[in-house]
Amino acid sequence: MSDYKTYLCEDNLIGGVWTGADDGARIAVTNPATGDVIGHIPKCGRVETDRAIAAAAKAFDSFGRSDLSQRVKLLQDLHDALMDNQEALAQLLTAEQGKPLFESRGEIAIGAAYIRWFAEEIRRAKGEIVPAPGSDRRLFVTRHPVGVVAAITPWNFPSSMLARKLGPALAAGCTVVAKPATNTPYSGLAWGKLAEEVGYPAGVLNIVTGGARDIGGAIMDSPLVRKVTFTGSTEVGRTLIRQSADTVKKVSMELGGNAPFIVFDDADIDAAIEGAMIAKYRNMGQTCVCTNRFYVQAGVHDAFVEKLRAATADLKVGEGIEPGTMQGPLIDDAAVAKVEDLIADAVGKGGQVVEGGGRHALGGTYFQPTVITGATADMAFATEEIFGPLSAVFKFETEEEAISAANATEFGLAAYAYTKDLARIFRLNEGLQYGLIGINAGLITTVEAPFGGLKQSGMGKEGGTQGLDDYLESKYMCVAGL
Ligand code: ADP
Repeated sequence: MSDYKTYLCEDNLIGGVWTGADDGARIAVTNPATGDVIGHIPKCGRVETDRAIAAAAKAFDSFGRSDLSQRVKLLQDLHDALMDNQEALAQLLTAEQGKPLFESRGEIAIGAAYIRWFAEEIRRAKGEIVPAPGSDRRLFVTRHPVGVVAAITPWNFPSSMLARKLGPALAAGCTVVAKPATNTPYSGLAWGKLAEEVGYPAGVLNIVTGGARDIGGAIMDSPLVRKVTFTGSTEVGRTLIRQSADTVKKVSMELGGNAPFIVFDDADIDAAIEGAMIAKYRNMGQTCVCTNRFYVQAGVHDAFVEKLRAATADLKVGEGIEPGTMQGPLIDDAAVAKVEDLIADAVGKGGQVVEGGGRHALGGTYFQPTVITGATADMAFATEEIFGPLSAVFKFETEEEAISAANATEFGLAAYAYTKDLARIFRLNEGLQYGLIGINAGLITTVEAPFGGLKQSGMGKEGGTQGLDDYLESKYMCVAGL
Protein backbone atom coordinates (compact mmCIF):
# COMPACT_ATOMS: atom_id res chain seq x y z
CA MET A 1 0.00 0.00 0.00
CA SER A 2 1.29 3.44 -0.89
CA ASP A 3 2.23 5.90 1.82
CA TYR A 4 0.56 9.33 1.73
CA LYS A 5 3.94 10.89 0.92
CA THR A 6 3.75 9.12 -2.47
CA TYR A 7 1.03 11.60 -3.38
CA LEU A 8 2.50 14.66 -1.70
CA CYS A 9 3.53 16.66 -4.77
CA GLU A 10 5.60 19.72 -3.99
CA ASP A 11 5.44 21.20 -7.49
CA ASN A 12 2.79 22.41 -9.92
CA LEU A 13 1.91 20.60 -13.13
CA ILE A 14 2.11 22.84 -16.19
CA GLY A 15 2.12 21.41 -19.70
CA GLY A 16 3.20 17.99 -18.45
CA VAL A 17 6.14 19.36 -16.46
CA TRP A 18 6.33 19.48 -12.66
CA THR A 19 7.67 22.89 -11.75
CA GLY A 20 7.91 25.58 -9.09
CA ALA A 21 7.19 29.30 -9.47
CA ASP A 22 9.57 31.16 -11.81
CA ASP A 23 10.99 33.11 -8.88
CA GLY A 24 11.15 30.05 -6.64
CA ALA A 25 8.62 31.48 -4.15
CA ARG A 26 6.85 28.93 -1.96
CA ILE A 27 4.09 28.81 0.66
CA ALA A 28 4.17 26.56 3.73
CA VAL A 29 1.21 24.23 4.23
CA THR A 30 0.37 23.17 7.76
CA ASN A 31 -1.59 20.36 9.34
CA PRO A 32 -4.47 22.05 11.23
CA ALA A 33 -4.48 19.25 13.82
CA THR A 34 -0.90 19.85 14.92
CA GLY A 35 0.34 23.07 13.33
CA ASP A 36 3.20 21.05 11.80
CA VAL A 37 4.41 22.06 8.35
CA ILE A 38 3.51 19.34 5.83
CA GLY A 39 5.43 20.87 2.93
CA HIS A 40 5.88 23.92 0.72
CA ILE A 41 3.93 24.55 -2.48
CA PRO A 42 4.83 26.91 -5.33
CA LYS A 43 3.55 30.45 -5.08
CA CYS A 44 2.71 30.93 -8.73
CA GLY A 45 1.13 34.00 -10.26
CA ARG A 46 -0.01 35.38 -13.61
CA VAL A 47 2.96 34.30 -15.72
CA GLU A 48 2.82 30.64 -14.70
CA THR A 49 -0.97 30.63 -14.99
CA ASP A 50 -0.80 32.05 -18.51
CA ARG A 51 1.64 29.27 -19.35
CA ALA A 52 -0.75 26.67 -17.96
CA ILE A 53 -3.62 28.17 -19.97
CA ALA A 54 -1.50 28.09 -23.14
CA ALA A 55 -0.60 24.44 -22.46
CA ALA A 56 -4.26 23.58 -21.95
CA ALA A 57 -5.24 25.39 -25.15
CA LYS A 58 -2.58 23.52 -27.11
CA ALA A 59 -3.63 20.16 -25.63
CA PHE A 60 -7.27 20.90 -26.47
CA ASP A 61 -6.46 20.82 -30.19
CA SER A 62 -6.10 17.06 -30.02
CA PHE A 63 -7.81 16.07 -26.76
CA GLY A 64 -10.97 17.94 -27.80
CA ARG A 65 -11.19 15.64 -30.82
CA SER A 66 -9.97 12.46 -29.18
CA ASP A 67 -11.83 9.16 -29.41
CA LEU A 68 -14.70 8.83 -26.98
CA SER A 69 -13.52 5.33 -26.13
CA GLN A 70 -10.09 6.70 -25.18
CA ARG A 71 -11.60 9.33 -22.88
CA VAL A 72 -13.86 6.75 -21.25
CA LYS A 73 -10.92 4.40 -20.68
CA LEU A 74 -8.78 7.16 -19.16
CA LEU A 75 -11.58 8.07 -16.75
CA GLN A 76 -12.12 4.43 -15.79
CA ASP A 77 -8.38 4.11 -15.11
CA LEU A 78 -8.43 7.34 -13.11
CA HIS A 79 -11.27 5.95 -10.99
CA ASP A 80 -9.31 2.77 -10.37
CA ALA A 81 -6.11 4.67 -9.54
CA LEU A 82 -7.98 6.67 -6.92
CA MET A 83 -9.54 3.62 -5.32
CA ASP A 84 -6.30 1.64 -5.42
CA ASN A 85 -4.70 4.46 -3.42
CA GLN A 86 -7.73 5.39 -1.35
CA GLU A 87 -5.99 5.00 1.99
CA ALA A 88 -2.91 7.06 1.08
CA LEU A 89 -5.05 9.80 -0.49
CA ALA A 90 -7.37 9.82 2.54
CA GLN A 91 -4.41 10.23 4.88
CA LEU A 92 -3.07 13.09 2.80
CA LEU A 93 -6.50 14.73 2.88
CA THR A 94 -6.81 14.42 6.65
CA ALA A 95 -3.27 15.73 7.12
CA GLU A 96 -3.96 18.97 5.28
CA GLN A 97 -7.66 19.45 6.02
CA GLY A 98 -8.20 17.95 9.47
CA LYS A 99 -11.37 15.93 8.90
CA PRO A 100 -11.65 12.48 10.48
CA LEU A 101 -10.06 9.72 8.43
CA PHE A 102 -13.37 7.92 7.83
CA GLU A 103 -14.72 11.08 6.20
CA SER A 104 -11.61 11.41 4.05
CA ARG A 105 -11.97 7.80 2.87
CA GLY A 106 -15.56 8.62 1.97
CA GLU A 107 -14.50 11.75 0.11
CA ILE A 108 -11.99 9.83 -2.02
CA ALA A 109 -14.64 7.20 -2.76
CA ILE A 110 -17.29 9.70 -3.81
CA GLY A 111 -14.74 11.56 -5.93
CA ALA A 112 -13.94 8.30 -7.69
CA ALA A 113 -17.66 7.66 -8.11
CA TYR A 114 -18.08 11.03 -9.86
CA ILE A 115 -15.27 10.14 -12.24
CA ARG A 116 -16.91 6.82 -13.06
CA TRP A 117 -20.34 8.45 -13.40
CA PHE A 118 -19.10 10.87 -16.05
CA ALA A 119 -17.27 8.07 -17.88
CA GLU A 120 -20.72 6.49 -18.18
CA GLU A 121 -22.72 9.65 -18.89
CA ILE A 122 -20.55 10.92 -21.72
CA ARG A 123 -21.52 7.84 -23.75
CA ARG A 124 -25.10 9.07 -23.64
CA ALA A 125 -24.42 12.75 -24.40
CA LYS A 126 -26.49 12.64 -27.56
CA GLY A 127 -27.32 15.39 -30.03
CA GLU A 128 -30.56 15.74 -31.96
CA ILE A 129 -31.94 15.53 -35.47
CA VAL A 130 -34.70 18.12 -35.58
CA PRO A 131 -37.65 17.94 -38.03
CA ALA A 132 -37.05 20.58 -40.72
CA PRO A 133 -39.80 22.91 -41.94
CA GLY A 134 -38.94 22.18 -45.60
CA SER A 135 -38.26 18.83 -47.28
CA ASP A 136 -34.98 20.06 -48.83
CA ARG A 137 -33.35 20.59 -45.44
CA ARG A 138 -32.01 18.53 -42.56
CA LEU A 139 -31.34 20.06 -39.14
CA PHE A 140 -28.79 18.74 -36.68
CA VAL A 141 -27.85 19.68 -33.14
CA THR A 142 -24.38 18.43 -32.27
CA ARG A 143 -22.47 18.68 -29.00
CA HIS A 144 -18.88 19.75 -28.54
CA PRO A 145 -16.48 20.36 -25.63
CA VAL A 146 -16.43 24.02 -24.56
CA GLY A 147 -12.62 24.24 -24.61
CA VAL A 148 -10.25 25.19 -21.81
CA VAL A 149 -11.92 25.00 -18.41
CA ALA A 150 -10.59 26.67 -15.26
CA ALA A 151 -11.57 24.95 -12.00
CA ILE A 152 -11.18 26.85 -8.73
CA THR A 153 -11.84 24.81 -5.60
CA PRO A 154 -12.14 25.34 -1.83
CA TRP A 155 -10.44 23.74 1.15
CA ASN A 156 -13.37 21.86 2.68
CA PHE A 157 -13.54 19.07 0.06
CA PRO A 158 -10.17 19.46 -1.61
CA SER A 159 -10.39 16.17 -3.50
CA SER A 160 -14.05 15.58 -4.38
CA MET A 161 -14.82 19.17 -5.41
CA LEU A 162 -12.21 18.77 -8.10
CA ALA A 163 -13.62 15.34 -9.05
CA ARG A 164 -17.01 16.88 -9.85
CA LYS A 165 -15.34 19.31 -12.22
CA LEU A 166 -12.62 17.09 -13.70
CA GLY A 167 -15.09 14.26 -14.36
CA PRO A 168 -17.35 16.14 -16.77
CA ALA A 169 -14.53 18.26 -18.22
CA LEU A 170 -12.28 15.32 -19.11
CA ALA A 171 -15.26 13.26 -20.27
CA ALA A 172 -16.36 15.99 -22.65
CA GLY A 173 -12.85 16.49 -24.06
CA CYS A 174 -12.11 19.78 -22.33
CA THR A 175 -8.67 20.53 -20.98
CA VAL A 176 -8.26 22.00 -17.53
CA VAL A 177 -6.34 24.54 -15.47
CA ALA A 178 -7.10 23.79 -11.82
CA LYS A 179 -6.40 26.02 -8.84
CA PRO A 180 -6.80 24.26 -5.50
CA ALA A 181 -7.20 26.20 -2.24
CA THR A 182 -3.92 27.31 -0.72
CA ASN A 183 -4.38 25.68 2.68
CA THR A 184 -5.31 22.28 1.19
CA PRO A 185 -3.41 22.07 -2.11
CA TYR A 186 -2.03 18.55 -1.92
CA SER A 187 -5.24 16.65 -2.58
CA GLY A 188 -5.62 18.80 -5.69
CA LEU A 189 -2.03 18.30 -6.83
CA ALA A 190 -2.46 14.55 -6.32
CA TRP A 191 -4.97 14.58 -9.19
CA GLY A 192 -2.11 15.67 -11.43
CA LYS A 193 0.02 12.71 -10.40
CA LEU A 194 -2.87 10.29 -10.81
CA ALA A 195 -3.74 11.71 -14.24
CA GLU A 196 -0.13 11.39 -15.30
CA GLU A 197 0.05 7.79 -14.03
CA VAL A 198 -2.98 6.70 -16.05
CA GLY A 199 -1.65 8.35 -19.21
CA TYR A 200 -3.43 11.66 -19.78
CA PRO A 201 -1.51 13.60 -22.44
CA ALA A 202 0.62 16.56 -21.30
CA GLY A 203 -1.36 19.78 -20.91
CA VAL A 204 -4.75 18.14 -20.50
CA LEU A 205 -4.68 18.74 -16.76
CA ASN A 206 -2.62 21.62 -15.36
CA ILE A 207 -2.55 22.55 -11.69
CA VAL A 208 -1.31 25.86 -10.31
CA THR A 209 -1.08 27.00 -6.71
CA GLY A 210 -0.30 30.39 -5.23
CA GLY A 211 -1.84 33.84 -5.09
CA ALA A 212 -5.58 33.55 -5.61
CA ARG A 213 -6.04 37.03 -7.06
CA ASP A 214 -3.15 36.68 -9.50
CA ILE A 215 -4.07 33.20 -10.67
CA GLY A 216 -7.75 34.14 -10.74
CA GLY A 217 -6.94 37.35 -12.63
CA ALA A 218 -4.99 35.50 -15.34
CA ILE A 219 -7.79 32.98 -15.70
CA MET A 220 -10.53 35.57 -15.90
CA ASP A 221 -8.63 37.83 -18.32
CA SER A 222 -7.73 35.07 -20.76
CA PRO A 223 -9.93 34.71 -23.85
CA LEU A 224 -8.60 31.15 -24.16
CA VAL A 225 -10.44 30.04 -21.02
CA ARG A 226 -14.00 29.39 -22.14
CA LYS A 227 -15.50 28.23 -18.88
CA VAL A 228 -14.87 28.78 -15.19
CA THR A 229 -16.24 26.39 -12.62
CA PHE A 230 -15.94 27.64 -9.06
CA THR A 231 -16.81 26.29 -5.63
CA GLY A 232 -16.33 28.66 -2.73
CA SER A 233 -17.74 31.72 -1.06
CA THR A 234 -20.55 33.80 -2.51
CA GLU A 235 -18.35 36.87 -2.23
CA VAL A 236 -15.58 35.47 -4.44
CA GLY A 237 -18.21 33.94 -6.74
CA ARG A 238 -19.72 37.38 -7.35
CA THR A 239 -16.28 38.77 -8.20
CA LEU A 240 -15.64 35.98 -10.70
CA ILE A 241 -19.05 36.44 -12.34
CA ARG A 242 -18.27 40.15 -12.77
CA GLN A 243 -14.81 39.36 -14.14
CA SER A 244 -16.23 36.82 -16.59
CA ALA A 245 -18.06 39.55 -18.50
CA ASP A 246 -15.12 40.91 -20.47
CA THR A 247 -14.38 37.63 -22.22
CA VAL A 248 -17.96 36.30 -22.00
CA LYS A 249 -17.05 33.04 -20.28
CA LYS A 250 -19.49 30.42 -19.23
CA VAL A 251 -19.54 30.24 -15.44
CA SER A 252 -20.85 27.70 -13.01
CA MET A 253 -20.89 28.53 -9.35
CA GLU A 254 -21.33 26.47 -6.21
CA LEU A 255 -21.50 29.12 -3.52
CA GLY A 256 -22.54 29.53 0.09
CA GLY A 257 -25.50 27.96 1.84
CA ASN A 258 -27.63 28.50 4.93
CA ALA A 259 -29.41 25.18 5.23
CA PRO A 260 -32.58 24.93 7.31
CA PHE A 261 -33.37 21.60 8.99
CA ILE A 262 -37.07 21.46 9.87
CA VAL A 263 -38.41 18.90 12.34
CA PHE A 264 -42.22 18.59 12.43
CA ASP A 265 -44.27 17.21 15.31
CA ASP A 266 -45.03 14.05 13.32
CA ALA A 267 -41.35 13.24 12.62
CA ASP A 268 -39.49 10.13 13.74
CA ILE A 269 -37.31 11.95 16.27
CA ASP A 270 -34.57 9.34 16.44
CA ALA A 271 -34.24 9.35 12.66
CA ALA A 272 -34.22 13.15 12.76
CA ILE A 273 -31.36 13.11 15.27
CA GLU A 274 -29.39 10.70 13.13
CA GLY A 275 -29.89 12.95 10.10
CA ALA A 276 -29.20 16.06 12.16
CA MET A 277 -25.82 14.79 13.36
CA ILE A 278 -24.55 14.15 9.86
CA ALA A 279 -26.16 17.23 8.32
CA LYS A 280 -24.72 19.45 11.04
CA TYR A 281 -21.40 18.02 12.15
CA ARG A 282 -19.91 16.46 9.01
CA ASN A 283 -16.47 17.99 8.48
CA MET A 284 -16.98 19.88 11.77
CA GLY A 285 -19.85 21.81 10.20
CA GLN A 286 -17.63 23.07 7.39
CA THR A 287 -19.67 22.15 4.34
CA CYS A 288 -21.92 24.36 2.24
CA VAL A 289 -24.79 21.89 2.77
CA CYS A 290 -24.35 21.72 6.56
CA THR A 291 -27.38 22.64 8.65
CA ASN A 292 -27.18 26.27 9.68
CA ARG A 293 -30.59 26.58 11.33
CA PHE A 294 -32.66 23.90 13.07
CA TYR A 295 -36.40 24.72 13.11
CA VAL A 296 -38.22 22.42 15.52
CA GLN A 297 -42.00 22.37 16.00
CA ALA A 298 -43.19 23.17 19.52
CA GLY A 299 -44.63 19.71 20.28
CA VAL A 300 -41.27 17.92 19.87
CA HIS A 301 -38.92 20.82 20.56
CA ASP A 302 -37.80 19.85 24.05
CA ALA A 303 -37.41 16.14 23.26
CA PHE A 304 -35.42 16.93 20.10
CA VAL A 305 -33.18 19.43 21.89
CA GLU A 306 -32.34 16.98 24.66
CA LYS A 307 -31.44 14.22 22.20
CA LEU A 308 -29.43 16.61 20.03
CA ARG A 309 -27.58 17.88 23.10
CA ALA A 310 -26.75 14.34 24.25
CA ALA A 311 -25.59 13.22 20.80
CA THR A 312 -23.49 16.39 20.43
CA ALA A 313 -21.87 15.80 23.83
CA ASP A 314 -20.93 12.28 22.67
CA LEU A 315 -18.90 13.46 19.66
CA LYS A 316 -15.27 12.51 20.12
CA VAL A 317 -13.01 15.46 19.30
CA GLY A 318 -9.41 14.80 18.32
CA GLU A 319 -6.88 14.41 15.55
CA GLY A 320 -8.58 13.18 12.39
CA ILE A 321 -6.01 10.43 12.01
CA GLU A 322 -6.89 8.84 15.39
CA PRO A 323 -9.39 5.97 15.27
CA GLY A 324 -12.78 6.94 16.68
CA THR A 325 -12.43 10.68 16.08
CA MET A 326 -15.72 12.25 14.97
CA GLN A 327 -14.63 15.91 15.03
CA GLY A 328 -11.23 17.23 14.00
CA PRO A 329 -9.91 20.79 14.29
CA LEU A 330 -11.42 23.71 12.37
CA ILE A 331 -9.46 24.83 9.34
CA ASP A 332 -7.87 27.94 10.87
CA ASP A 333 -8.05 30.63 13.57
CA ALA A 334 -10.43 32.77 11.54
CA ALA A 335 -12.94 29.88 11.47
CA VAL A 336 -12.74 29.58 15.25
CA ALA A 337 -13.12 33.33 15.76
CA LYS A 338 -16.21 33.31 13.53
CA VAL A 339 -17.95 30.62 15.59
CA GLU A 340 -17.00 32.42 18.82
CA ASP A 341 -18.48 35.66 17.48
CA LEU A 342 -21.70 33.95 16.42
CA ILE A 343 -22.10 32.40 19.87
CA ALA A 344 -21.43 35.72 21.62
CA ASP A 345 -23.94 37.46 19.38
CA ALA A 346 -26.62 34.82 20.06
CA VAL A 347 -26.04 34.79 23.81
CA GLY A 348 -26.22 38.60 23.84
CA LYS A 349 -29.65 38.35 22.21
CA GLY A 350 -31.04 35.77 24.65
CA GLY A 351 -29.83 32.43 23.25
CA GLN A 352 -28.94 29.68 25.72
CA VAL A 353 -25.86 27.50 25.32
CA VAL A 354 -26.97 24.00 26.37
CA GLU A 355 -23.86 22.17 25.19
CA GLY A 356 -20.26 23.19 24.51
CA GLY A 357 -19.88 26.88 23.80
CA GLY A 358 -16.15 27.54 23.39
CA ARG A 359 -12.71 26.41 22.36
CA HIS A 360 -11.81 22.82 23.14
CA ALA A 361 -9.27 21.82 25.79
CA LEU A 362 -7.12 20.31 23.00
CA GLY A 363 -6.21 23.88 22.04
CA GLY A 364 -5.24 25.01 18.53
CA THR A 365 -8.32 25.29 16.35
CA TYR A 366 -10.30 22.58 18.12
CA PHE A 367 -13.79 23.69 19.12
CA GLN A 368 -16.43 22.14 21.37
CA PRO A 369 -19.45 20.89 19.42
CA THR A 370 -22.11 23.34 20.61
CA VAL A 371 -25.90 23.58 20.86
CA ILE A 372 -27.75 26.88 21.35
CA THR A 373 -31.52 27.07 21.94
CA GLY A 374 -33.87 30.03 21.89
CA ALA A 375 -32.50 31.13 18.51
CA THR A 376 -34.24 34.09 16.89
CA ALA A 377 -34.26 35.74 13.47
CA ASP A 378 -32.21 38.72 14.65
CA MET A 379 -29.21 36.55 15.55
CA ALA A 380 -26.35 36.65 13.05
CA PHE A 381 -26.46 32.91 12.28
CA ALA A 382 -30.02 33.29 11.00
CA THR A 383 -28.60 34.91 7.88
CA GLU A 384 -24.86 34.11 7.94
CA GLU A 385 -23.20 30.81 7.16
CA ILE A 386 -21.76 29.34 10.40
CA PHE A 387 -19.26 26.88 8.89
CA GLY A 388 -18.52 25.36 12.29
CA PRO A 389 -19.82 22.84 14.85
CA LEU A 390 -22.63 25.01 16.22
CA SER A 391 -26.26 23.88 16.25
CA ALA A 392 -28.72 26.78 16.50
CA VAL A 393 -32.28 25.70 17.40
CA PHE A 394 -35.32 27.85 16.58
CA LYS A 395 -38.81 26.88 17.82
CA PHE A 396 -41.86 27.19 15.50
CA GLU A 397 -45.61 26.57 15.63
CA THR A 398 -46.96 26.21 12.07
CA GLU A 399 -45.77 24.78 8.75
CA GLU A 400 -46.27 28.14 6.99
CA GLU A 401 -44.10 29.83 9.60
CA ALA A 402 -41.34 27.22 9.17
CA ILE A 403 -41.28 27.45 5.36
CA SER A 404 -41.28 31.22 5.45
CA ALA A 405 -38.43 31.33 8.00
CA ALA A 406 -36.48 28.69 6.04
CA ASN A 407 -36.69 30.85 2.90
CA ALA A 408 -35.73 34.11 4.64
CA THR A 409 -32.14 34.08 3.33
CA GLU A 410 -30.30 35.06 0.16
CA PHE A 411 -29.07 31.48 -0.10
CA GLY A 412 -30.85 28.45 -1.56
CA LEU A 413 -28.56 25.42 -1.55
CA ALA A 414 -29.71 22.59 0.76
CA ALA A 415 -32.77 22.19 3.01
CA TYR A 416 -33.81 19.23 5.16
CA ALA A 417 -37.15 18.32 6.71
CA TYR A 418 -38.40 15.44 8.82
CA THR A 419 -42.10 14.55 8.58
CA LYS A 420 -44.32 11.56 7.83
CA ASP A 421 -47.06 13.60 6.13
CA LEU A 422 -47.01 12.88 2.38
CA ALA A 423 -49.04 15.93 1.39
CA ARG A 424 -46.73 18.14 3.42
CA ILE A 425 -43.69 16.63 1.67
CA PHE A 426 -45.00 17.95 -1.64
CA ARG A 427 -45.89 21.32 -0.11
CA LEU A 428 -42.26 21.47 1.06
CA ASN A 429 -41.04 20.57 -2.42
CA GLU A 430 -42.99 23.50 -3.85
CA GLY A 431 -42.45 25.91 -0.97
CA LEU A 432 -38.76 25.53 -0.13
CA GLN A 433 -36.59 27.71 -2.38
CA TYR A 434 -33.67 25.27 -2.37
CA GLY A 435 -31.81 23.35 -5.05
CA LEU A 436 -31.36 20.26 -2.84
CA ILE A 437 -34.10 19.01 -0.52
CA GLY A 438 -33.61 16.11 1.89
CA ILE A 439 -36.84 14.65 3.29
CA ASN A 440 -36.15 12.31 6.20
CA ALA A 441 -32.48 12.26 5.18
CA GLY A 442 -29.53 14.34 6.33
CA LEU A 443 -27.06 13.29 3.64
CA ILE A 444 -28.39 13.30 0.09
CA THR A 445 -25.44 14.03 -2.21
CA THR A 446 -24.99 11.28 -4.76
CA VAL A 447 -23.42 11.18 -8.21
CA GLU A 448 -26.70 10.30 -9.91
CA ALA A 449 -28.45 13.53 -8.84
CA PRO A 450 -27.77 17.17 -9.78
CA PHE A 451 -26.11 19.19 -7.02
CA GLY A 452 -26.54 22.95 -7.17
CA GLY A 453 -28.11 25.92 -5.48
CA LEU A 454 -30.86 28.43 -6.21
CA LYS A 455 -30.82 32.17 -5.49
CA GLN A 456 -27.36 33.41 -4.46
CA SER A 457 -26.09 29.89 -3.78
CA GLY A 458 -25.03 29.63 -7.38
CA MET A 459 -25.78 28.51 -10.90
CA GLY A 460 -25.26 25.27 -12.79
CA LYS A 461 -25.39 21.69 -11.55
CA GLU A 462 -22.70 19.16 -10.71
CA GLY A 463 -23.43 15.45 -11.00
CA GLY A 464 -26.52 13.87 -12.49
CA THR A 465 -27.23 13.97 -16.20
CA GLN A 466 -27.21 17.79 -15.91
CA GLY A 467 -23.59 17.82 -14.69
CA LEU A 468 -22.23 17.49 -18.23
CA ASP A 469 -24.28 20.30 -19.75
CA ASP A 470 -21.97 23.12 -18.72
CA TYR A 471 -18.99 21.43 -20.37
CA LEU A 472 -20.64 20.91 -23.75
CA GLU A 473 -21.69 23.53 -26.29
CA SER A 474 -24.36 22.71 -28.80
CA LYS A 475 -24.11 23.69 -32.43
CA TYR A 476 -27.05 23.78 -34.78
CA MET A 477 -26.26 22.83 -38.35
CA CYS A 478 -28.70 23.22 -41.22
CA VAL A 479 -27.96 21.28 -44.41
CA ALA A 480 -29.98 22.78 -47.27
CA GLY A 481 -30.47 22.18 -50.97
CA LEU A 482 -31.10 18.45 -50.61
P1 ADP B 1 -13.51 29.51 1.24
O1 ADP B 1 -14.35 30.20 2.24
O2 ADP B 1 -13.92 28.12 0.89
O3 ADP B 1 -12.04 29.66 1.49
P2 ADP B 1 -13.09 31.26 -0.98
O4 ADP B 1 -14.14 31.73 -1.92
O5 ADP B 1 -12.34 32.28 -0.21
O6 ADP B 1 -13.87 30.26 -0.06
O7 ADP B 1 -12.03 30.36 -1.72
C1 ADP B 1 -12.38 29.35 -2.64
C2 ADP B 1 -11.31 29.26 -3.70
O8 ADP B 1 -11.28 30.47 -4.43
C3 ADP B 1 -9.91 29.06 -3.15
O9 ADP B 1 -9.19 28.24 -4.04
C4 ADP B 1 -9.38 30.47 -3.15
O10 ADP B 1 -7.97 30.53 -3.20
C5 ADP B 1 -9.97 31.01 -4.44
N1 ADP B 1 -10.07 32.47 -4.52
C6 ADP B 1 -10.19 33.37 -3.52
N2 ADP B 1 -10.22 34.62 -4.02
C7 ADP B 1 -10.11 34.54 -5.37
C8 ADP B 1 -10.10 35.46 -6.45
N3 ADP B 1 -10.20 36.77 -6.26
N4 ADP B 1 -9.98 34.97 -7.71
C9 ADP B 1 -9.90 33.65 -7.93
N5 ADP B 1 -9.91 32.72 -6.95
C10 ADP B 1 -10.02 33.14 -5.69
